[in-house]
Amino acid sequence: MAINDLSQFSFVQERVRLLPYAFVKQKQVLPVAESNGMLLLATLREDDIEVLEEVRYVTGKEIQGIAVSKAALDQAIAHCYQPKENKAPEVSTTIPFAEQKNREGEYDLLDPQDDALSVRMVNAILLEAIQQKASDVHFEPFEHGLSVRYRIDGVLQKRDAPPREYQAQIISRIKVLARLDVAEHRLPQDGRIKLRVGEKEIDFRVSTIPVVYGERVTLRILDKTDLQLGFEQLGMQKNQERTFVSWLKCSEGMILVTGPTGSGKTTTLYSALSSIANSATNVMTIEDPVEYKLQNIAQMGVQPKIPLTFAIGLRAILRQDPDVIMIGEIRDRETAEIAIQAALTGHLVLSTLHTNDAASAIVRLVDMGIEPYLLSSTLIGVVAQRLVRKNCPHCKASYSPSDQELKELGLDRSALIDGVLYRSPGCAICFHTGYKGRSGIYEIMPFVQELKQQLLKSPDAWEMEKVARSCGIPSLREEGAAFVLQGGTSTSEILRMTRKI
Ligand SMILES: [Zn+2]
Repeated sequence: MAINDLSQFSFVQERVRLLPYAFVKQKQVLPVAESNGMLLLATLREDDIEVLEEVRYVTGKEIQGIAVSKAALDQAIAHCYQPKENKAPEVSTTIPFAEQKNREGEYDLLDPQDDALSVRMVNAILLEAIQQKASDVHFEPFEHGLSVRYRIDGVLQKRDAPPREYQAQIISRIKVLARLDVAEHRLPQDGRIKLRVGEKEIDFRVSTIPVVYGERVTLRILDKTDLQLGFEQLGMQKNQERTFVSWLKCSEGMILVTGPTGSGKTTTLYSALSSIANSATNVMTIEDPVEYKLQNIAQMGVQPKIPLTFAIGLRAILRQDPDVIMIGEIRDRETAEIAIQAALTGHLVLSTLHTNDAASAIVRLVDMGIEPYLLSSTLIGVVAQRLVRKNCPHCKASYSPSDQELKELGLDRSALIDGVLYRSPGCAICFHTGYKGRSGIYEIMPFVQELKQQLLKSPDAWEMEKVARSCGIPSLREEGAAFVLQGGTSTSEILRMTRKI
């Protein structure tokens, strides 16, 4: 017998929105109460296992379905998700944000004192971005209004745009939060917002630039509670992890991590440093900027205006009796030279370079003016990495790949497990992208004798690559193909993120 009235259930009374509006509308379900860790889910068909399973997956709770009439469900959904005014965007707000006292320089996401619509719109957008684990939020003015996009798992996704008439207020609101000059529209500005959302403390790095139709604002979300350090989080293959950990045991020399922006280099280095740091070791870093504060590690941020540059900071660090030094990035000859000197004189130096593959990192240092013989006596190894999106486990399905696809991956059909690969067509849980979460893929290149010889003979990235392959060091593409074989990601993702060697 279907229930005809949901108004007595606690979630409905308190307007608890556990699931995104789009999801409850499409699937015709609504969580209405919770008891003993079991979620009561109002649904039109309580035997619809697939929907119950999806909700279980999203909420992480066991589900008890209860059948309701369509009218009762619609009414309850409308009640729960009804905005205070028609135009406020509809978002779920499951994060408890009430009763947080404003600390200095921090703002509650929902400030009960300020009920302006633009304020609530900004709050709703930021909350949704945090919930969906976006790394960036873009507010972009165009001729016909403001566009809002989130970067989730490395890819931009469009969101419902606020009405055009609120464009100026929304941008101003963000500038106020970031303590920028609200009256200045002609110059780029940057600032920071600190927010508390329940137990979470979240930093946003804010950047504005003037564009043709107004000001374009980008927020980088630095969610400290989300940073998970440790080798098991990195996604290295076991043999790769063993190699990398063995490098970290060296008392001197240099380890480089390379890859484009957003490839997870910092997370790799932070995980490495955290594994090294203990009371017997002095670990010091110089970074631009310090993104996450690590325990037992002295971290310094560069401030070029003062000027505190990488080179100046690094010299100062060397007078602080360090054992391990992490340099955020080697960008210039001076920094590279000091880094090499440090690595030659009893320090373990870790740094990143901005190149596509491991061999190019070595050649980049030579191009900066480092003598190949100095490099060959200090370099321990290079990690090249990418973050690839993982197949959504919820809609993942097997298929038989074509010869062409296998060729592009460099795989032989005999390598396939059960003759199939996996891809995800997309579902509500992965927002129809087919992907959920990301994992690193790595090229771990120990600086072996053959590579040293090639470097001294001719510092050429292409030749060094060839030597690396002949020494049995797999390329990023090969490591990616192995991940596809395991069902971890799709062929297109690997072809997009790596190049053929
Ligand atoms: Zn999916």
